[in-house]
Amino acid sequence: MKRKSKSPLSKLGEFGLIDRIQNRQAFASKSVVRGIGDDCAVYRTSPGRFQVITTDALVENVHFIRKSHPPELLGRKTLAVSLSDLAAMGAKPILAVLALGVPRTLDLKFLDRFFAGFHGMCREFSVELAGGDTVRSPKEFWVSLTLVGDVPAKRFFTRSGAKAGHVLMVTGTLGDSALGLKLLSGKTGTPPISQKEKSFLMQRHFDPEPRIDFSRKIAASSIRVSSMIDVSDGLVQDLGHLCHMSGKGADLDGAAVPRSKQFEKVIKNKNLDEFPLCFEGGEDYELLFTTPPEDVKKIITVAKKVGLPVSEIGKITRHPGRIRLLQENESPKHLKPTSGYNHFS
Ligand code: ADP
Ligand code: MG
Repeated sequence: MKRKSKSPLSKLGEFGLIDRIQNRQAFASKSVVRGIGDDCAVYRTSPGRFQVITTDALVENVHFIRKSHPPELLGRKTLAVSLSDLAAMGAKPILAVLALGVPRTLDLKFLDRFFAGFHGMCREFSVELAGGDTVRSPKEFWVSLTLVGDVPAKRFFTRSGAKAGHVLMVTGTLGDSALGLKLLSGKTGTPPISQKEKSFLMQRHFDPEPRIDFSRKIAASSIRVSSMIDVSDGLVQDLGHLCHMSGKGADLDGAAVPRSKQFEKVIKNKNLDEFPLCFEGGEDYELLFTTPPEDVKKIITVAKKVGLPVSEIGKITRHPGRIRLLQENESPKHLKPTSGYNHFS
């Protein structure tokens, strides 16, 4: 009787796969007392600090297309999106637990490459993979990561402290990831663009850099930051969350919103509308925050030290929920704070 030969993954099985993940781990945390291999992970907490925890899922065909997302970069992004949440609180990452949904037919090489990226990112940001769960998924590959970190009990950032008159600032540039995704979809019309710009924008989509370093340096300083959020669902929408939690409004200076030169060039060449990308596009993973005007200079100094640009993009106002876009020679335009990415609309 002829039997179908088993795939490398089914030969390996659930526990073989877990061993393989564990054997390639690249970072061990001093806080972790028991990692992979027991029923629970055990870790130490420190006096005078609060624990923070966040969870994010990435689902094939919702958050990524398996064929086009390089597996190493998907592994990195799995951690990056949660690290970005920790950055928004000013937190220090400690450990992660990872749930994996694996189709039976998935190529083992894909998983090895995914974990090469994942473990590399763990080492870069000092995160120990301390546990998880591994299950079969009927068709799509998915991951769900829970990340634990901590903050000094006396100093962490939230969405809720913005005051009228405070300056609105953002790190990096916005819209690159959304434009990278648009280029990937091939729906941007014919005018060709150079490979250099294309790779930059795609990289920004595939491999976002969480702003942990900047955020922790600000947290360690005496600079006043009244509120912070990471921009994952579009500037206007996330600004809406910040304003809502702070009971305030904001005036955005349209021209000051930072765009990369690659972004500007491609928008111009292809004659695209930049608003949906730069103001509403998702997955920038930059930090949006507010500070009293007197502290803006100090923030710029810290940003210079870590080699990250920051921009002043507007002001907090005392009008709850009112978000306006100010542009030269135009009257202020009211923006809907809900415009941006939404899974169910
Ligand atoms: P249990 O049945 O008690 O939940 P499992 O057999 O699912 O335990 O997992 C065995 C060990 O391997 C546990 O310590 C678990 O945390 C860890 N583990 C399972 N899947 C993963 C994964 N994808 N990444 C990291 N650790 C994992
Ligand atoms: Mg289990």
